[in-house]
Amino acid sequence: MGLTNSTMGIKAVDSGLKIKRHTACDQVIALAGNPNVGKSTVFNGLTGMNQHTGNWPGKTVTNAQGYCSGKNHSYVMVDIPGAYSLMAHSAEEEVARNFICFGDPDAVVVVCDATCLERNLNLVLQILEIATKVVVCVNLMDEAKRKKIKIDLDGLSDQLGVPVVAVVARKKKSLSRLMDTLDTVIEGKNKKTPLKIRYPQAIETAIDMIEPLVREKSGNRINSRWLSLKLLDPDPSLIQEIDSYLGEAFLKDAALSSRVQQAIEMLQNRGISTNKIKDMIVSSLVLTAEGISRKTVTYAKETYNNTDRQIDRILTSKWAGYPIMLLLLALVFWLTITGANYPSQIISTVLFWFQDRLTDFFHFLHTPSWLYGMLVLGVYRVLAWVVSVMLPPMAIFFPLFTLLEDAGYLPRVAYNLDRPFKRCSACGKQALTMCMGFGCNAAGIIGCRIIDSPRERLLAILTNNFVPCNGRFPTLIAILMMFFVFTSGSLSSSLLSAVLLTAVIVLGIMVTFAVTKLLSKTVLKGVPSSFTLELPPYRKPQIGPVIVRSIFDRTLFVLTRAMVVAAPAGLVIWLMANIMIGDTSLLSLCATFLDPFAKLLGLDGVILLAFILGLPANEIVVPIIIMAYMAQGSILELDSLTEMKQLFVANGWTWVTAISTMLFSLMHWPCSTTLLTIKKETGSWKWTALAFLIPTVIGLTTCFLFASASRLFI
Ligand code: GDP
Repeated sequence: MGLTNSTMGIKAVDSGLKIKRHTACDQVIALAGNPNVGKSTVFNGLTGMNQHTGNWPGKTVTNAQGYCSGKNHSYVMVDIPGAYSLMAHSAEEEVARNFICFGDPDAVVVVCDATCLERNLNLVLQILEIATKVVVCVNLMDEAKRKKIKIDLDGLSDQLGVPVVAVVARKKKSLSRLMDTLDTVIEGKNKKTPLKIRYPQAIETAIDMIEPLVREKSGNRINSRWLSLKLLDPDPSLIQEIDSYLGEAFLKDAALSSRVQQAIEMLQNRGISTNKIKDMIVSSLVLTAEGISRKTVTYAKETYNNTDRQIDRILTSKWAGYPIMLLLLALVFWLTITGANYPSQIISTVLFWFQDRLTDFFHFLHTPSWLYGMLVLGVYRVLAWVVSVMLPPMAIFFPLFTLLEDAGYLPRVAYNLDRPFKRCSACGKQALTMCMGFGCNAAGIIGCRIIDSPRERLLAILTNNFVPCNGRFPTLIAILMMFFVFTSGSLSSSLLSAVLLTAVIVLGIMVTFAVTKLLSKTVLKGVPSSFTLELPPYRKPQIGPVIVRSIFDRTLFVLTRAMVVAAPAGLVIWLMANIMIGDTSLLSLCATFLDPFAKLLGLDGVILLAFILGLPANEIVVPIIIMAYMAQGSILELDSLTEMKQLFVANGWTWVTAISTMLFSLMHWPCSTTLLTIKKETGSWKWTALAFLIPTVIGLTTCFLFASASRLFI
């Protein structure tokens, strides 16, 4: 269906978000909810593939719109950011509030978590204050049942005065009732009166004083009771939105201003300051939510919660928390290393067998040798290397990691690390962004959006690069296996490599702490925000979907990106190795030029050049090293680590080179994708430059110190 201008765009000043209707009669539904209540699952269940994503205008908050139909109506579902309240404590809450208030959605669906309904009701109550057409969707009913939590759904609907639908979002069928209810609400068939929150008498009097005038002046375009309340406790970002929604004349209206002033003075005479108004509003909301929840939710004796708590007592305890974290990390690495070894060899054998066939084919066609060299020895060989080395570890690492995430373990990691992060004046959520960085630093940087405080978000962004992304993992694993694990294939050797890899990661984490602390004492001074981390319940991970999701979302995504970069890089390297200036190649010329400086760092010119040329993606660092060495020396068929080690040793590698290369791989400039993401997220070249400089300077210094020390002692 084509889009016409008349069906594009929405009438309100919705911060500029374009609602893309398929047809003019599409109803616009805002999908709201606290974070982690299954909102995305509901959204995906309803709209399937029929969605598109972008950003909220002017915000680094993602926006998704999707399409679905009920029996009578078709809908554009707008997935608004997860938020605990509409009081705008974060960019997400601001976007959520603005869309509900000023985006003119035809109805709002609020997704709630049945296992902690009381907290979710807070948001429901705030939405009821603004919107009239509301459906409450109580999700995670299966979890509630398991925890023996009973919800009187009819009672809840009576209390709230809007329809309540119970669903299990993972089961798509249960969502059809939601669509039916939405149809009735859209048609204005809700017979109940939506709940009106009662505030303490003084505030009610103040509202009564200004509401009639607000209704008149605003032309009833916005809920006048809610607007009156907000005028008593003005929040600058909201005032700005009101201004652009209702027009300047509204707030500047003399009669209204003086009436609001009178109401505020009346409150002050009763000893109620502006700050106190806010407290009173919040506590009325909380008390109402508590009251409703008491009447409608019954808990069996806390059987399941107790199990959760017992597990937490161990996983987050002082004595066991850290060791378990390290053990799990080492276990994931061990499974990755042992599991990846064998398929890696098979893939490499197959791909290099295919290279021979390609060679035969090119000879058969009498292709000129430069074309053969460029395509087969350049592009194809680098691709084969990247695929065979990267695919198996990623296909094992990502699902394992996603399983830990899905089971609810990662929030425990954040909880354990909250204290050390607080000591560095940062917050524990930084640990979660580091976990995302394991996959891809650019993803980790985007993940920093979960941190509310801009200062803490910057700290997390600037240090994310100290977690090796999976472009650097294979490099680290390969070097470890070649130089430090001698009896290849045995259990002890794979355990040893897992332990060593864990040690490298721990080093990265230590550096993260040190840099975070340094930054928060210098350029990013401030106190840690007091946000308390919540421990969501453990969930039985869905093994099938987790594997599918991690293969498609992460493994193939990262692999494709690596291949897209590796193919042209292979070509460039081959050209550099084959363009002769005098009787040396351009590649060796550059490498020779860098060599004296690189030697100071314990590296050599080729390695340093590989890191520089690897700016587009770290995945290609080792292939560049191999190609450079091979172009300089004898041609080898590289299908095992032993041969690779021979090649490296023949080019002067010692264990010092190996360690220096690993250190430099852990600590050097972020790849270009990450840098661009940092620029996009921070909107500043200054922070991007700092994100480049910090790891680079630390890496150079560390390598220099290590190499000098090793020279002293050997
Ligand atoms: P959002 O943060 O609100 O978008 O939440 P998500 O949609 O990402 O869901 C969070 C987690 O809850 C995911 O692991 C989902 O698979 C899981 N989930 C969502 N809905 C249900 C449900 O009805 N039952 C169960 N058991 N899990 C659910």
